[in-house]
Amino acid sequence: MMSMAFSFAIDIYGCQMNQYDGDRLRTSLIRRGWIETDRNKADAVVIVTCSIREKAEQKVLSEIGRYGKLYRTKGKPVLAVIGCMAQNMGADLLRRFPQVKVVAGPRHIGWVPDALENAMMHKTVLYLDEDPRGLIDLHDAPMIRSNPYKAFVTIAHGCDNFCTYCIVPYVRGRFVSRRPGEILKEVSELVDDGVLEVTLLGQNVDSYGKDLKEGYLFSNLLRDVAKVPRLLRVRFTTSHPRDFTADVIVAMAEESKICPAVNLPIQSGSNRILKKMNRGYTVEDYGKIIKRLREALPEVSITSDLIVGFPGETEEDLQCTLEMLKTMEFDLVHTASYSPREGTPAANMPDQIPEEEKKRRLSIVNELQDAISFKKNKILEGKVFEVLLDDFAPRGKGMLQGRTPTDKVVLVPGDESMLGKLCEVRITGASNWYLYGEIVSFRDFSDVLEVRI
Ligand code: SAM
Ligand code: SF4
Repeated sequence: MMSMAFSFAIDIYGCQMNQYDGDRLRTSLIRRGWIETDRNKADAVVIVTCSIREKAEQKVLSEIGRYGKLYRTKGKPVLAVIGCMAQNMGADLLRRFPQVKVVAGPRHIGWVPDALENAMMHKTVLYLDEDPRGLIDLHDAPMIRSNPYKAFVTIAHGCDNFCTYCIVPYVRGRFVSRRPGEILKEVSELVDDGVLEVTLLGQNVDSYGKDLKEGYLFSNLLRDVAKVPRLLRVRFTTSHPRDFTADVIVAMAEESKICPAVNLPIQSGSNRILKKMNRGYTVEDYGKIIKRLREALPEVSITSDLIVGFPGETEEDLQCTLEMLKTMEFDLVHTASYSPREGTPAANMPDQIPEEEKKRRLSIVNELQDAISFKKNKILEGKVFEVLLDDFAPRGKGMLQGRTPTDKVVLVPGDESMLGKLCEVRITGASNWYLYGEIVSFRDFSDVLEVRI
């Protein structure tokens, strides 16, 4: 392995998987002797990109352009564009931007550290493209992370579902589960490094293990991760309503370390649209899962994803979605207006909805869901929750943020010395996105942490 004293910065866009990939790349480069620095001074900038919506790609393109000015005057930074947009745009990025020297899709990030060193030393340009069924992963756990107390761990790559609006299967490739032993080893390494909470990631975690054909499924993995000594909490995302099974609910009910929080994207409240989306379930099927979840885990929080303005969506479909939101009473919904992605079936469907109309529908949906989220949070006032303080609050000096087991973000007054602490927090106020609270007591969790098996 070469050892270089180049400096670098990482810009991460998009989902938690990108955060995970960015942290692993950071770890790998630092282990090779690279030094992380400010993005405007760095010899190289790694941009981890997202293609899920057109807006995400435009943001990155303008950022690449901004680095172009620096590159022309100072000869740096060299850019490595990696992730979904790199796979989607491919060599086009190299043709358009002389500052881009490495382009690698999400399945080839194992090659990126060598490619970057070659680009720096030998001025080579590398386009790492291959059959998306191949997988050249990076075998460094994300040890040098943006957050010391919590970490993401990808348990499966890619997706085979081909929802008609979604670009993920084309850029992230076929579904491949990581070996259970590899995942458990990584979780143990992270815990040894001080991590208290891990979130298991996959585009469809419920399909975990099916491709390994060993009878070891997602609920088995969840239980085994929960048994890792000194780990406090296990979370997971994203679940798929078609594949979500009862054994996962049972594992959640039986293992106290598995947090009672589920992100279960519904995408639409109209069965007609769900069919056109190729989601493989109806609103009624979805309702049954929610019912079972709430019966088994009364405190569970359920969040969802929703697309508004899918091609052909009528006013009646929109009404179905509004009714569905009232019935399901989600804790939170990540809403988006439909963004046509070239190469996906929905982009060529008739009756595309004009942007202005999508915006109008999105604001109606958001207004309703905001009121539901607010109502759900408001009833938590006065209650006491166990909160792991894991970061500074996004705004407001002297404020920290943490999460309840149900994944609600709670803001409390506090200082740096309290980070990484588990405490009992009384909720004093609520908005639709946040809870506000005061610390009642700190919890000594050394007992939990000392347990060894
Ligand atoms: N695999 C998960 C699932 O099945 O829902 C989520 C994956 S996707 C990365 C995250 C969210 O992006 C989706 O739930 C969907 O709501 C949204 N999304 C995907 N493609 C989109 C598109 N073309 N336009 C708008 N939103 C989109
Ligand atoms: Fe995209 Fe559907 Fe796969 Fe989720 S399940 S990543 S929405 S294709």
